[in-house]
Amino acid sequence: MKKTAKDTAPKKTKNLATTKVSPNKDIKKAKAKIISLGKQFHRRGWSLATSSNYSALVSRKPYQLLITASGKHKENLGMNDFLTLNDKGAPLEKTDEKPSAETALHLLLTSKENINSVLHVHSVWGTILSEKYGSTGGFWVEGYEMLKGLSGIKSHESRIWIDIYPNSQDITALAKKVNERTFSHKEFVPFGFLIRKHGLYAWGANLEEAQRHVETLEFLFEVTGRSLLIHD
Ligand SMILES: [Zn+2]
Repeated sequence: MKKTAKDTAPKKTKNLATTKVSPNKDIKKAKAKIISLGKQFHRRGWSLATSSNYSALVSRKPYQLLITASGKHKENLGMNDFLTLNDKGAPLEKTDEKPSAETALHLLLTSKENINSVLHVHSVWGTILSEKYGSTGGFWVEGYEMLKGLSGIKSHESRIWIDIYPNSQDITALAKKVNERTFSHKEFVPFGFLIRKHGLYAWGANLEEAQRHVETLEFLFEVTGRSLLIHD
């Protein structure tokens, strides 16, 4: 019988909570970092064309979320290709730009304590694995040294569970599911999840940690995917 996500969900995993870090207060610095991430992720093939969206919380009280505007090519983001939103997703200044269609996921994730940046990419290996393991709701990644790129993991003798959700254009409904499932792994703080045939959402306590988590998870996805191609 095929294992379901419930059967394989982690039971006793160490608490991997990250240390407390303030939001990305300097808005100009946050924009410059996101622009540089767009170039890097485009070069790696994780953010081609206008896919992907990135955000950074610049203030929690009052809530102010810096997010990339919809429809922008990620190789060439400019300082004006951003919006600042309140906790309902409404722009705080008058603008002709539209926030990403996936804003509801950024709002949900950054409503969690200690998540101050969310980076969403559409990579080839993440997309392939999201389809391969989509019907079981996720998959384990285990035993790799690179797991130590994830905050709180100190040994290669660790494993993480990657949730996979069906793709949907109803992002509010998807965010509700993520809240109910990914954030109910009691002894397990996740670092990201996949959407089937779509891509990765990863996050961190600041932009730098979110970047490290994207790079680590994408490495692990590529290793997992390429390993499936090698036959004895
Ligand atoms: Zn997307």
